[in-house]
Amino acid sequence: MQTIHSISGIRDLVRDLRARDHVIALVPTMGALHDGHLSLIRLAAERADTVIVSIFVNPTQFGPNEDFLKYPRELGADLAACQEAGADVVFTPSVEEMYPKGFSTYVVEDRVSKPLEGASRPTHFRGVTTVVAKLLHIAQPDLMVFGQKDAQQVAVIKKMVEDLLIPVEVVVGPTVRESDGLAMSSRNRYLTATQRKEALALFQALSKAKEMVEGGELRADRLIAEATHILSDHRRIRVIYVAVADRDTMEAAREVTPGKSLIALAVWVDEVRLIDNFLL
Ligand code: AMP
Repeated sequence: MQTIHSISGIRDLVRDLRARDHVIALVPTMGALHDGHLSLIRLAAERADTVIVSIFVNPTQFGPNEDFLKYPRELGADLAACQEAGADVVFTPSVEEMYPKGFSTYVVEDRVSKPLEGASRPTHFRGVTTVVAKLLHIAQPDLMVFGQKDAQQVAVIKKMVEDLLIPVEVVVGPTVRESDGLAMSSRNRYLTATQRKEALALFQALSKAKEMVEGGELRADRLIAEATHILSDHRRIRVIYVAVADRDTMEAAREVTPGKSLIALAVWVDEVRLIDNFLL
């Protein structure tokens, strides 16, 4: 496995790989890798000849009062995990090279990115689409792998790829969870033992909603009320949103359409912001 820090290094490599007809997969990450990330690398390895994992804590997707500076960075452990999972190349650019002084061009998806996460993190998806567009131009992958854990991110990226006619396949891997159901997240390591216990309520709320749907309840307001009730029972949890939405457009739905809808939520567990979702 190679580690490449410069954009020109990846470009040189990719030119050579494409000349040899290699299928290239890109797995964009911000590092602090866990089994969720590694499952995406394995999925990429099944589909591609060369798997490039990018590790870049992207400043433009963090709001001014968010955790950019304290976001966990542990490159040594990440490189070992990437190798183990089957990555061929790890790309770790610097902020200075990705966003040189004077940088002023952004990619904005203007609809799917607006509700839910977009409503509470107004510049987040602009940062995501911008960095992903840049990574696509650098690595020119045939496919790019994302996790369903960030359902709205998947929808926004798919829309960007479609709208901008980008020749890449977007592959989505399922959410990987801890044994008790908590979705794996780099931010879980911020949780104290007490907060970690309370964070299980996200999974419980989603599970309850899914159970209700399986029992025939399709009315969104009933599902949202029940999930909110479960979350609100926890002293450290503050609900940011609970929503039933279309999985592609992220528009709020009044009724679940099986296979088309998801229930998504975001909460604060004290000062730690967590999100999760279930497809319904
Ligand atoms: P991040 O490093 O948080 O930007 O995440 C990088 C990629 O890993 C994104 O496509 C995420 O959706 C995905 N991811 C994060 N957590 C999980 C998880 N628990 N299961 C599956 N994919 C995940």
